[in-house]
Amino acid sequence: MESIAEFGSMVFGEAEMKRRLPEETFEALRETIRRGRPLGRHIAGPLANAMKEWALEKGATHFTHWFQPLTGVTAEKHDSFIAPGPEGGAIAEFSGRELVMGEPDASSFPSGGLRATFEARGYTAWDPTSFAFIKDGTLCIPSVFCSYGGDALDKKMPLLRSVELIERETLRLLRAYGVKDVSRVTPTVGAEQEYFLVDAELCAKRRDLVLCGRTLFGAQPAKSQELDDHYYGAIEGRVQAFMRELDGELWKLGVYARTEHKEVAPGQYELAPFFCEANVATDHNQLTMELLRRIAPSHGFVCLLHEKPFAGLNGSGKHNNWSLMTDTGVNLLSPGKTPAQNTLFLLVLSAVIKAVDLHQDLIRLSIAGASNDLRLGRTEAPPAIVSVFIGEELTAILEAAALGNGYDGAGERMLESGIKAMPRVRMDNTDRNRTAPFAFTGNKFEFRMPGASHSIADANTVINTIAAEAFADFAEALEKAEDPDETAKKLIVGTVKAHGRILFGGNCYAESWKEEAARRGLVELKTTLDALPRYIAPENVALFTRHGIFSERELRSRYEVSLESYAKITRIEARTMLEMARREIIPACSKAQRHIAEAVNAKSAAGAAAASEKRRLLEADALLEAMDTRALALEKELARADAAPDSHAACVACRDGVIPAMAELREAADALEQITASSLWPFPVYEQLLMGAR
Ligand code: ADP
Ligand code: MG
Repeated sequence: MESIAEFGSMVFGEAEMKRRLPEETFEALRETIRRGRPLGRHIAGPLANAMKEWALEKGATHFTHWFQPLTGVTAEKHDSFIAPGPEGGAIAEFSGRELVMGEPDASSFPSGGLRATFEARGYTAWDPTSFAFIKDGTLCIPSVFCSYGGDALDKKMPLLRSVELIERETLRLLRAYGVKDVSRVTPTVGAEQEYFLVDAELCAKRRDLVLCGRTLFGAQPAKSQELDDHYYGAIEGRVQAFMRELDGELWKLGVYARTEHKEVAPGQYELAPFFCEANVATDHNQLTMELLRRIAPSHGFVCLLHEKPFAGLNGSGKHNNWSLMTDTGVNLLSPGKTPAQNTLFLLVLSAVIKAVDLHQDLIRLSIAGASNDLRLGRTEAPPAIVSVFIGEELTAILEAAALGNGYDGAGERMLESGIKAMPRVRMDNTDRNRTAPFAFTGNKFEFRMPGASHSIADANTVINTIAAEAFADFAEALEKAEDPDETAKKLIVGTVKAHGRILFGGNCYAESWKEEAARRGLVELKTTLDALPRYIAPENVALFTRHGIFSERELRSRYEVSLESYAKITRIEARTMLEMARREIIPACSKAQRHIAEAVNAKSAAGAAAASEKRRLLEADALLEAMDTRALALEKELARADAAPDSHAACVACRDGVIPAMAELREAADALEQITASSLWPFPVYEQLLMGAR
């Protein structure tokens, strides 16, 4: 239990602040953290000093502003505390200014045209709502990252803006409905993280895993996940050791790492933390991804966070659980025992339903990316069509409301096990629907489309913004109402009528849902490239600028950065495939075929027919020929993408030319793998990779 005692030991949290700061300073800081009050200038100096003292005691020697540029991973630039001291010695220094602001330059991060080199200044600014922490002997100060002109260059600035927005609009809604005792509302988030572990030695032998984080070649193994014998299985050996170390390190950083289990695919696992405020949850998820990657090698693993490391097997996502919590301790998405009587809950629930229906495109956009395209709509992930699942009882309640009927539903239900000795347990009001992209799961919404490698900042920025907009609409109606409760009920009924098409309780993975969704007029943005232009659609620009989440310039920059990223990822993968095909697979297959040809010659000389060798040789030779021509074709498509006049054209060339050519090349290689002697195949195959991580 020693590690649990160490929980938060590397975080400069409230207890540490209280111990080290004058009472007045501490109170002022707490107002900022808890109530979002601006921080007085005079506080930075004493606070920086206290932080430095604490960090030095913990053995830290450096500090850094820790920020989240548009690459999706975190960035840091270390400065030591060292400054010249008396008599040629040194002292440790850390000023209030250094705490509050940094100018890392950092001009090579993607900015989508927001920073030309002549105006390359970039600033990091301290975000006091997320605690500083020590990682690897470095005091990390969670920060936002912006340009000289104040444009957001990161994922945190818009998220923080959206957190303030939803707090404002939820409070407004609550007041309008008559709830007066709440003074703070925060979005809460718990992000379940899926990942793969692959044996490090095997991984090092595959260029695709090393360079792209996923396999670009590989025939299906004889056995993978069909028997579900990995899912929730006993966690043994070095995986167990890895998870224990990971939990311990995350706890020190204040991350509530809680649930660990095996996922469906062999070598696939999941980590779920206890939820916390959206902003902190986003930081914690970034730390989780970083530590997953970093701790794996000391246990002989590589951790893959890619959305689809292995074709044909389950990919990895990140379930983003979202709700709203008041400072009076109420979860606004908690239905209570009798949801039918809980008008406020139904009001909040229907506002979210309305928001998702109105902004399906933004929900889809918030999780777009080349790697997630490989996962969405396959057997284990929701399709690129957004729908909402709320379960039978809530559907019945809303339908009854819409029809003007009373609901005389189940009320409290107990689990009937038929076993007397079992304790009686109350059942949830909703069952599960594991295929729904946006599912109400009892007291929160679980958004299942985000990819495993992505920051959850984008998704939560969108959810906060669109929910806030719907709350604002409702609040406006309630503010004018004479009887808020009556009006609230009308709003709920109206929402079900107007937006009920987004509700779906069936199997979202089925082909028939696609047709049904089209009939309902739901939006399907199949690929990332179909989704990205929604960044700059006039109605979305209007929405985000109206609420101060993104300026039009920021949206254009994000559009540009996302286009560039899509094209870059695709081209890196295509080049890696060409390398592997020409320098590894083709030479290995030539050699294998020479062996067969020699056997043909030897056997023929000895008077045998050598019919089976001849047949195998012809088959293999035809496939090798196909590989050669398909590699040439891929090269041509790649050249076309390289020559595209702008990033959108490059993406189109990638989607319509490069990606299909990659699939063709892979098909030939995978067929060859299945008829080539194992001993001659140039790198580890699926079976070895999947079964090797234990
Ligand atoms: P489930 O059984 O639905 O997966 P869990 O209780 O295991 O539910 O929770 C899954 C994730 O949802 C966890 O990370 C959990 O902390 C998070 N979660 C639970 N309640 C909330 C909430 N009110 N707001 C945000 N996340 C929540
Ligand atoms: Mg879950």
